[in-house]
Amino acid sequence: MPTAPSTILANTHLLKELKLIRAIPSNSQLYCESVSSCAFCPHCGEESRSIYDHRTVRYKDIPLGPERPPTTLILRKKRFFCRPCGKVFSETVSGFLPRQRSSERFKSLIRWACERFSNLSQVSKDYKVCNSSRFHALNFGSLMP
Ligand SMILES: [Zn+2]
Repeated sequence: MPTAPSTILANTHLLKELKLIRAIPSNSQLYCESVSSCAFCPHCGEESRSIYDHRTVRYKDIPLGPERPPTTLILRKKRFFCRPCGKVFSETVSGFLPRQRSSERFKSLIRWACERFSNLSQVSKDYKVCNSSRFHALNFGSLMP
C-alpha cells in the first residue's frame, strides 16, 4: 500500500513530538500539534492533564527542500490548568524555546550558513531572516544548553 504524501512529509520533516494536521507545501506551511497529553507545571512541578485552551504560534523552521523558503510551522499549543496551584501554563515542545519564533534547528541552519557564507547579508536574504534573527542565532544559540 503506498504511503500518503502527508505521512512521508510528517515522517521526514517534523520533529518527533509533533503530529501533522495539515500541509500546504506550495506555501511552505505545516499545521501541527504536539502528541503529548500532559505537561508539568513550571510553577509547582505537578503533572497536569487538564487542557485549559489552545494557542496558535507560528515558527520559522528549516525549508522543505533545497531552493525552498523557510517553512512556516503553525503549531497549535495546548495550555494546561494546574489544579494544585491554580495557574495556567503553556506546554513546552522540544526544539522550540519559549518566546522564540524560530525552531532550534532553523537557528542551527542559520549558524551553519553564517559560518560558511562570506556575505552575511546573503544569508539573511537566502533564508529570509532579518539581521537581528541572524545575530541571535549566532550569538545566543551557542550559549544555550
Ligand atoms: Zn502548578
